[in-house]
Amino acid sequence: MHTIAMTTAQGSLLVVVFVFGCAVGSFLNVCIWRMPRGLGINSPRRSFCPRCSTPINWFDNIPVLSFIALGGKCRACGKGISWRYPAVELVTGLLFALVYHRQGVQVQTEAGQLVIMMLLTALLIVGSGIDIDWLIIPDEISLFGILGGLAAGLLLPGLHVGDMSYHTFGPSAMNPHLGGLLGAGIGMFVGGGIVLGCALFGYLIFRKEAMGIGDAKLLGMVGAFFGWKVALITFFISPFVGLLYGVPILLTRDEHVMPYGPFLSVGAVVTMVFRSSLCGRLAGWIDSLAVVTGGTVG
Ligand SMILES: [Zn+2]
Repeated sequence: MHTIAMTTAQGSLLVVVFVFGCAVGSFLNVCIWRMPRGLGINSPRRSFCPRCSTPINWFDNIPVLSFIALGGKCRACGKGISWRYPAVELVTGLLFALVYHRQGVQVQTEAGQLVIMMLLTALLIVGSGIDIDWLIIPDEISLFGILGGLAAGLLLPGLHVGDMSYHTFGPSAMNPHLGGLLGAGIGMFVGGGIVLGCALFGYLIFRKEAMGIGDAKLLGMVGAFFGWKVALITFFISPFVGLLYGVPILLTRDEHVMPYGPFLSVGAVVTMVFRSSLCGRLAGWIDSLAVVTGGTVG
């Protein structure tokens, strides 16, 4: 395992990306709070304290730092500010930095794909935040995301080539842009379909709704952006994320309804960031399965 030393320029860019991510996280907080309440993202223009409605000064609205400077309390009413605000900012900053470092510096993915990865990360953070509070994932996130994923496949075919592609099952001699769109479409159907199938199965067997349509659209969005392999790996990683989080909660609290969107989202970000190696492994596994069964796949 060789490591690639970062240049000074890359190091500075990493800091810039982190700070940019924290600022984006501040905007995502606004989306998480306003979207399910039917409030416009842009009006009122200024952010306000959710407790006393006092508009927040720009110097009290600096990601992470203002929360620390204010001691976690609103300057106007003195009531506590949720720790979730700085947490969302910090997580967004760290994930953007991770995308840049892993995909931009180590794997040397093209810049367009880095932007797409940050966009999907942002959509997943907003979807998860709203799912945690309201047990819904708004269509404005998942349907917009699916359309965005299809458009990205068409414009950046690089998202759907090599080990990451649909090519294992599909034609390889095709116009790259159409191929990218096809890869995005297959990813959307695999992602959405596997959750729907599982939900239907769970309902028929247990008469219980473990995953819903919102989760299907969310994984459909992940598949549209990064193809069917990423959707499939995400689906199999997410229950483990759920276990890590859910077991302590179930033991300590009397709470049985848990949103599944955040688990899918964590699984999706992990898979997306490490997809070059994870998808290669999945491809190898499918190939060896094909050898065992004597069939030919790809
Ligand atoms: Zn206040």
